[in-house]
Amino acid sequence: MDIIANFIDGQYQVPINQQYLDNIEPATGKVYGQTPDSDNQDLALAISAAKQALPVWQKMDLEQRADVLIAIADEIEHRSEELALAEARDNGKAVSLARNIDIPRAASNFKFFAHACSQFASEAHAMAGSAINYTLRPPVGIVGCISPWNLPLYLFTWKIAPALAAGNCVIAKPSEVTPKTAALLGEICQKVGLPPGVLNILHGSGAKIGQAICQHPQVKAISFTGGTATGAAIAQLLAPKFKKLSLELGGKNPALIFADCDFDNTVEQVFRASFANQGQICLCASRLYIERSIYDKFKQALVKKAIALTPSDPLKAECQMGAIVSKPHLDKVLSYIDSAKSQGGKILTGGQQVKLNGRCQQGYFLQPTIIENLPNSARCNQEEIFGPVITLQPFDTDQEALALANDSQYGLAATVWTNHLARAHDMAESLNTGIVWVNCWLLRDLRTPFGGMNHSGLGREGGLEAMRFFTESKNVCVKY
Ligand code: NAP
Repeated sequence: MDIIANFIDGQYQVPINQQYLDNIEPATGKVYGQTPDSDNQDLALAISAAKQALPVWQKMDLEQRADVLIAIADEIEHRSEELALAEARDNGKAVSLARNIDIPRAASNFKFFAHACSQFASEAHAMAGSAINYTLRPPVGIVGCISPWNLPLYLFTWKIAPALAAGNCVIAKPSEVTPKTAALLGEICQKVGLPPGVLNILHGSGAKIGQAICQHPQVKAISFTGGTATGAAIAQLLAPKFKKLSLELGGKNPALIFADCDFDNTVEQVFRASFANQGQICLCASRLYIERSIYDKFKQALVKKAIALTPSDPLKAECQMGAIVSKPHLDKVLSYIDSAKSQGGKILTGGQQVKLNGRCQQGYFLQPTIIENLPNSARCNQEEIFGPVITLQPFDTDQEALALANDSQYGLAATVWTNHLARAHDMAESLNTGIVWVNCWLLRDLRTPFGGMNHSGLGREGGLEAMRFFTESKNVCVKY
């Protein structure tokens, strides 16, 4: 049994209340570990450690701070195989995906923000011949970072790295569903000599320890990634407390596929955008709008690929489609497929749970599912499913495609597939999303603003946006 501990003040510590939650391996459906069900007592220890560490970390020479972050990145790379296997087991994702995307990106997050902290400059505003203003950007202090289960170490470190780079001490909580690699990060911090108390990792349920972190008066900012309903609850809780809040929430991302696209490449990329990580990436395409003249051909090409993509044991090197993260989530995804059927949707392929043999026979596997014939108002076109389920709709004009894509409460990411330059720019300008990819998907430059509009979130992560979020700006005006 793999028993995880909290990481507080540079040491692993068992939860004071001695309470644990089961950790289930999605590919087998079996409990394989225990995660602390932490509460306010553990939080009090973490806050006290962070308070002690803050003055030293805040005042540390920037180069020295950057060196520690680079050392964390190097150690993640050094342990990448162990981390990839742990991620695949904990989350159900294909180990090849963890090897090629999740773990390298976690290392990149630390490297990127190690460099960012030495490049982060403040501004000066001269008032002709009378005064000079300059802006100081001190760290916020103690901050909370709360992340979801879909890209566990990738998103955990995407918050922690900028928070530390900006000079804050962090209380971080991974999802209780996928705690393992976050727990291993503590060992890495110990090994490279991150000062005790600078990063504290608390495990447990969102409703208990997650909410406690948000509410604690010493925690001055919360960076949250997760579902829209959770984000709304946190925003409501924190509004009267005037804490800084960054919310990266759900999406219902449209893909606009025009007849003038590069057909084969578009099929390939749109398929990946739809089903990577079992469709459990906030940026995955889930509503495909296809120009009518290529609708049937494109649909057939996608269905053929979906039939060939069969789920298998995530720990096997050849696996391309792993397990859904949990039983409740599998049930939720299946309930959307039922709702599609009841609303007149036609299931072109998939729609069923898949039973594997051997060690995975009780696992949570789902065939990639493609649905057509649903109106844009259907639940499957309006609500986030967050699984390997996509819908297809034909369109006739650019205006119709745009109207369908923008008919959503969400606004995270969109993809546009066309070789028509003006059309690509027109669409990019008119789509109500925080991110638009043209002829590509998930091509990431960590300097760019990352985040969504409307129900997809508040604020942006990435590059300077993150450094600004994790600092206060203070203007100093000097008259001379
Ligand atoms: P979730 O249920 O909202 O949970 C996210 C995190 O918040 C988890 O660590 C969770 O802990 C914690 N939490 C739950 N309730 C809380 C509360 N009341 N106070 C404080 N923390 C609380 O989301 P999820 O199911 O893990 O993740 C899937 C969602 O994340 C999807 O909607 C997806 O689109 C979104 N997402 C968005 C982005 C983005 O960048 N926009 C990226 C990835 C994922 P427990 O898990 O322990 O309950």
